Amino acid sequence: MSEHTITVAGVAVDTRHWIGGERVASTQTFPDVSPIDGSTIGEISRGTAMEAAAAVAAAKAAFPAWAATSRAQRARILHAIADGVEKRIEELAIVETTDNGALLRSHRRGVMPRVAHNFRFFADWLLQLDHEDFDTRGHTNHVSWDPAGPCVLITPWNAPLMLATWKVAPALAAGNTVVLKPAEWSPLTASLLADIAAEAGLPAGVLNLVQGYGSEIGDALTSHPDVRRISFTGSVPTAKRIAASAAAHLTPLSLELGGKSPLLVFADADLDLAVDLAVEQYDNAGQVCLAGTRLLVEESVAEEFTRRFVEKASGLKQGDPRDEATDIGPNIHPRQLEKIDGFVRRALAAGARAVIGGHRGDGQYYAPTLLTDVAQDSEIVQEEVFGPVLTLQTFTDEETAVRLANGTRFGLAATVFTGDPERAERVTARLVAGTVWVNCFFVRDLQAPFGGSRLSGVGREGGTWSFDFYCDVKNTVTAPKGWKDHG
Ligand code: NAD
Repeated sequence: MSEHTITVAGVAVDTRHWIGGERVASTQTFPDVSPIDGSTIGEISRGTAMEAAAAVAAAKAAFPAWAATSRAQRARILHAIADGVEKRIEELAIVETTDNGALLRSHRRGVMPRVAHNFRFFADWLLQLDHEDFDTRGHTNHVSWDPAGPCVLITPWNAPLMLATWKVAPALAAGNTVVLKPAEWSPLTASLLADIAAEAGLPAGVLNLVQGYGSEIGDALTSHPDVRRISFTGSVPTAKRIAASAAAHLTPLSLELGGKSPLLVFADADLDLAVDLAVEQYDNAGQVCLAGTRLLVEESVAEEFTRRFVEKASGLKQGDPRDEATDIGPNIHPRQLEKIDGFVRRALAAGARAVIGGHRGDGQYYAPTLLTDVAQDSEIVQEEVFGPVLTLQTFTDEETAVRLANGTRFGLAATVFTGDPERAERVTARLVAGTVWVNCFFVRDLQAPFGGSRLSGVGREGGTWSFDFYCDVKNTVTAPKGWKDHG
């Protein structure tokens, strides 16, 4: 074991970058702290422009050979990576939980199997992705999906490996090489992924990993002339900086950003279902981009809805995320906790009422909070909190429900509970959102388009949309044999 390897819950994790098939250390490091108890897990290599340039150079050097590798071989390697993930589910799960504080049981049973599925799905999708041919007066148009080149993938801390592999898998499947930059608050599982990919036979330089602070290493990656795609998941302010930096070379961007999604409950809805799924919005301590944080409830059932919601939410167990019985773990970082608390304190000062919560818990926990008496134009209704904080507003008619639902600058997702299919059709048609769920929540198929409208994002990924983004789509027009007519 090298001096750069740390042991996290019995699992060895290399703290260095992974560039061109080799571990590379920086002279400086940054501390990685566990949200569970505030302890320092280890010191991680703190990348600079120099490591960013080296990683892009490695990705550029590896690109021609990987792009020329047959689809079948690329798919085989992606499946081998999925096998490696499946073999190490327990290790990945405990390392991720230690690093970002999300529940061990959901990492084990939901998230890490899904990480493996990301690789299997895009491997299989690649194999059935058809080249399209069509005819123009005897000429053949042949539309092909060509690999684009080195891709920079930048990811957040709330679902680190899940969100990284949702980008890495299609980028590699498309024949591109990758520089992955995970979030500095949860850098560890990306390093394990580099090990797994190497063991699966992914050639050196096809997947590179750089660690570090976005503010220090980001620009060097996103303004690099050799980078052909940038896919980013994170916050709106960072996205604006990245877009400005990518403008230097007009590098195509995919941006998956924040949300302030509405969850609408009509009086004709199955109220038990609506309450159950409304309480689920506290999952991952509210650190879920898709969370329906604005509960919009028809006035005639609002009192009953609130009563049942409070009863159910009061049963949630907050505590150590490694404990099977825990429902809500800690928030990621003292700074995030401070931010959440600031939002709630300002909302209370502006006249909001905390039906439950409204304050910090012990340590790095925030009490699950439901706020009523909030104005549509108030900060707490308009801005993403990214913590276990929901607001509840009421409406008396469909028109108002839609107006409130669409009344923010975001458009990531929306959830509608109604027993009336015609109402569902009317309302969903008018909602501005990348994903709308009717009488369900968080059902996500990898072949579906995923992304946000308005400030929630630019572009869509998923299924063919991912290949659309990660490929240079080319149309080749071939004349019929003997064709001479230039006229
Ligand atoms: P963030 O924007 O602070 O950071 C995200 C990543 O960007 C990190 O890796 C960070 O190091 C990097 N970064 C920071 N500055 C950079 C720069 N100048 N150049 C390049 N990279 C830079 O976001 P966060 O706090 O880590 O994540 C939370 C946000 O992510 C929330 O807004 C949430 O809604 C959003 N999110 C969106 C989705 C989605 O699919 N739409 C999914 C998960 C999270």
